[in-house]
Amino acid sequence: MILFKKSAQLIAYVSKIKETGNKIGFVPTMGALHKGHLSLLEASAKNNKLTICSIFVNPTQFNDPNDLRKYPVTLEKDIHLLSEAGTDLIFLPDASEIYPNGFSHLHHYPLGYLENSLEGKSRPGHFQGVCQVMDRLLDIIQPDNLYMGQKDYQQCMVVAKLLEIKQAGIVLNTCPTLRERDGLAMSSRNMRLNTEDRKNAIAIFIALNHIKENFQPGNLEGLKNNAHDILKKHQFKPDYVEITDAVTLQTQSDWDGKQKLVALVAAFINEVRLIDNMIL
Ligand code: AMP
Repeated sequence: MILFKKSAQLIAYVSKIKETGNKIGFVPTMGALHKGHLSLLEASAKNNKLTICSIFVNPTQFNDPNDLRKYPVTLEKDIHLLSEAGTDLIFLPDASEIYPNGFSHLHHYPLGYLENSLEGKSRPGHFQGVCQVMDRLLDIIQPDNLYMGQKDYQQCMVVAKLLEIKQAGIVLNTCPTLRERDGLAMSSRNMRLNTEDRKNAIAIFIALNHIKENFQPGNLEGLKNNAHDILKKHQFKPDYVEITDAVTLQTQSDWDGKQKLVALVAAFINEVRLIDNMIL
């Protein structure tokens, strides 16, 4: 396994691989790795000669400085996991590699409705930060294939939009959400849950399943209220429970019986904010 910290090293290495016509797969992460991340690496390894995993906790996508400060960092363990999983190459840049001109005058991306809805509404500037880091990483790595998790549904849509803007011919592969045995979506943030909160955290999965099992043509508001109640009974403070069009992410209060929908939840348990979603 190769580990590069400098973008110049990576660019030189990648350009040699590209000359041979071999495909490059890329899995961007913020570390604190779990099996969900590893599933993306496996998907990449199946279809690419070289798989690159980046670990970079991107400051520009955190609107809350406390959230950034408390974001779990388990670098040694991550490197060990990646080496066991047979990852070809880790890219471990520091902020000066990603933001060589500092944090002022960062590019602003036209994300339209996606920017200020759901996650964007709760975390102002979050998706601009996601685009800033992804744009730079993609310019350095120039992958053929990009692998991201459905767990971050809106993020996948934002990155699809970025790829459309960049016109770089990179294919986005959205991979299924890996879950713990009880249904909780794997997440780096789960490490921050105490024993009781970890037990209650299953409520997000229960709430999403409740929506999936009970949605019918007509009004959807009652279902969203039920999901709120399930979350509250398990000590969650819901941020949002929404049912949206699966393609546009526009919030829906009624279902016509045909449209493809997705249910999305964000909720706090103590200070930890968890998100999840389910295609209906
Ligand atoms: P993060 O390190 O949280 O930024 O996540 C890096 C990538 O892993 C993103 O594309 C996430 O959507 C994906 N990911 C996170 N959790 C899961 C999961 N439980 N199953 C599959 N992919 C995931």
